[in-house]
Amino acid sequence: MRAFYHPEQATHDPLQSMRYGKIIPAKDLPVRTERLLGALNKHGISPETPAAHGKAAALTVHTPTYVTFLETIWERWSLLPNHGPEVWPNYFPYWSGRPEEVSRPPCPAESVVGQVGWYLGDLSAPMGPHTWLSSLRSCETAVSAAAAIVAGDGTAYALCRPSGHHARTDRAAGLCFLNNTAIAAHHLRQRFAKIAVLDIDVHHGDGTQQIFYNRDDVLTVSIHANPAKAYPFFTGYAHETGHGSGAGFNLNLPLEIGSDGSVLTASLETALERIKTFEAEALVVAVGFDAHRNDPVGLLKLDAADFGVIARKVRALGLPTLAVQEGGYAIDAIGDCLDAFIGGLGA
Ligand SMILES: [Zn+2]
Repeated sequence: MRAFYHPEQATHDPLQSMRYGKIIPAKDLPVRTERLLGALNKHGISPETPAAHGKAAALTVHTPTYVTFLETIWERWSLLPNHGPEVWPNYFPYWSGRPEEVSRPPCPAESVVGQVGWYLGDLSAPMGPHTWLSSLRSCETAVSAAAAIVAGDGTAYALCRPSGHHARTDRAAGLCFLNNTAIAAHHLRQRFAKIAVLDIDVHHGDGTQQIFYNRDDVLTVSIHANPAKAYPFFTGYAHETGHGSGAGFNLNLPLEIGSDGSVLTASLETALERIKTFEAEALVVAVGFDAHRNDPVGLLKLDAADFGVIARKVRALGLPTLAVQEGGYAIDAIGDCLDAFIGGLGA
């Protein structure tokens, strides 16, 4: 199996996040990539450096004003007097929470502070001096892996970091800036008429859902911890099934907090059945390992071996399959999770 990763993805090194009203250390540490690379090495896989695709691929799912914001905000932020070490918002626009409200105009404010609140949707997406470059490289990793599938490979793995599935068309959030999974899925449309996205990160893939919510050529399926009790809170419910042309092409399968691998694999059967009836021609798995029982997010109770079970069931679909890395913050467990997942894919 071919895998892709660019070392500059590790230069994004966030400092802070917010939990229960306290500033705490960020959890998306660069060391995550070392553990994932170690797992690839166990399988004799040496990741290839992705081609420099530039911004074009990102612009297939994100708005131009948002991408320009990401590219330029660090420099503009640096000109603020007494600015903090990271671009961090303190004002947010109102949003109804309705999933069908998927487009916004560009931010009306010229102010850096106003734009940061418009485009960074929460306090878990701080941007430092290298965040844009890392995000662009992460996106390029996803595109190169998708290109391998388009060229005829049966499986490929994109070691993406920063993650992507919380990034909307025009908003970063939850450690995510460019939606690698969505960009890859869109890229696969170059060869395949129908793409399915299966998101098994412990959090709802709200950005991916939003990007494809009105489309019937990309089915989005997400299995995640119940958003009534877990991030991203405002979407991820079972009644969100798509809108307009996309009606019926989004499936959310929330799980109760504390569920183990047997509960998740039962939901996975429902997900796989829907992917079959959709008649997907290719599959993107948004693979997060933060459902592991040792993960600091503490929502589900999967063991590393469960990711092997998931991968074997996915493999049984017999579809060209691209795995795109999303979350997973238990540093001592994520390597074992990827090891099991790759083993299950039989790659
Ligand atoms: Zn997650």
